Amino acid sequence: MARLLAADRAGITAAARLLGQGSLVAFGTETVYGLGGRADADATIAAIYAAKSRPAHNPLICHYPDAEAAGRDAVFGPVARALAAAFWPGPLTLVLPRAPGCRIGRRAGPPDTVAVRVPGHAIARAVLAEVALPIAAPSANRSGGISPTTAQHVLAGLGDKIAAVLDCGACPVGIESTVVDLCGPRPALLRPGFVTAADIEAVIGPMGQEDGGRGDGRILRAPGQLARHYAPNARLRLNATGCDANEALLAFGPPPAGAFPVFQLSATGDLAEAAANLFAGLRTLDALVARAGLAGIAAMPIPAQGLGVALNDRLTRAAHPGQPETIRL
Ligand code: AMP
Ligand code: MG
Repeated sequence: MARLLAADRAGITAAARLLGQGSLVAFGTETVYGLGGRADADATIAAIYAAKSRPAHNPLICHYPDAEAAGRDAVFGPVARALAAAFWPGPLTLVLPRAPGCRIGRRAGPPDTVAVRVPGHAIARAVLAEVALPIAAPSANRSGGISPTTAQHVLAGLGDKIAAVLDCGACPVGIESTVVDLCGPRPALLRPGFVTAADIEAVIGPMGQEDGGRGDGRILRAPGQLARHYAPNARLRLNATGCDANEALLAFGPPPAGAFPVFQLSATGDLAEAAANLFAGLRTLDALVARAGLAGIAAMPIPAQGLGVALNDRLTRAAHPGQPETIRL
């Protein structure tokens, strides 16, 4: 079973040492818990894919303590520099050309590009500064399932597959980073997140269509291209204005009257509070549905504006029926 490390000096140093040795260590970021491993070591990259059962066509994001460190592995043009200056440290991932001498292993993604981020979480950055290597850190859960926002979520899903978890408390943002691709003729939003399209366009002007004009179609460039992702086991019904007696309610604002279990995302209808609670809410209700033998989860509507775009993106994929899709290369 993985060691649970406290997020103090000793825990940070232990996490950095384990990562440096090539072990897998989960740590909290402001978005979700990441499954960290050396991105410069192909064996560690392979171990990350194996631990998550992640399809090989879904590339990894590499994490750094600051933009200067990221600049060793990725080429920053003026648009990338402007976005990094505006949003780093923070929940924004940039897909950029590989730099000459890039340390990231070939198995982490496509041959010509890398995805890089400087997390907004101070403890995560302290670990990254101490290990001083590019660290790949996809969400610390089995591929396709609900992302973890506490150390306990990580232990429940991957406790037997990793060396340690650094307990950084609950993740304040609660949903994965926004991903922007700067390798096509136009900047393109690959995954909505806490940093909204409007936030980005306020800095760099209008973005292009989803594939940024690259149109290569060779590789999965966004988890958003998987119809089913972030999914509970229970059936999930969206935009529910009522809840049946044999359902559990994922509420956003005042719930309808009735006798059913409720997980409140935000009583006041606050989108940021709802994002921070989303994955814990899905986990809680998923367990409850299984325990009580209910028919499924009913989720109240969330307005698709601002951060609500990302919340609806996650819920739509979580509600998609069937198995996670795979794409053949
Ligand atoms: P995550 O599942 O949070 O680790 O995010 C991985 C996502 O980052 C992928 O599904 C892609 O959307 C994006 N990504 C990572 N690396 C690349 C890359 N080299 N090119 C395009 N997108 C990438
Ligand atoms: Mg994930």
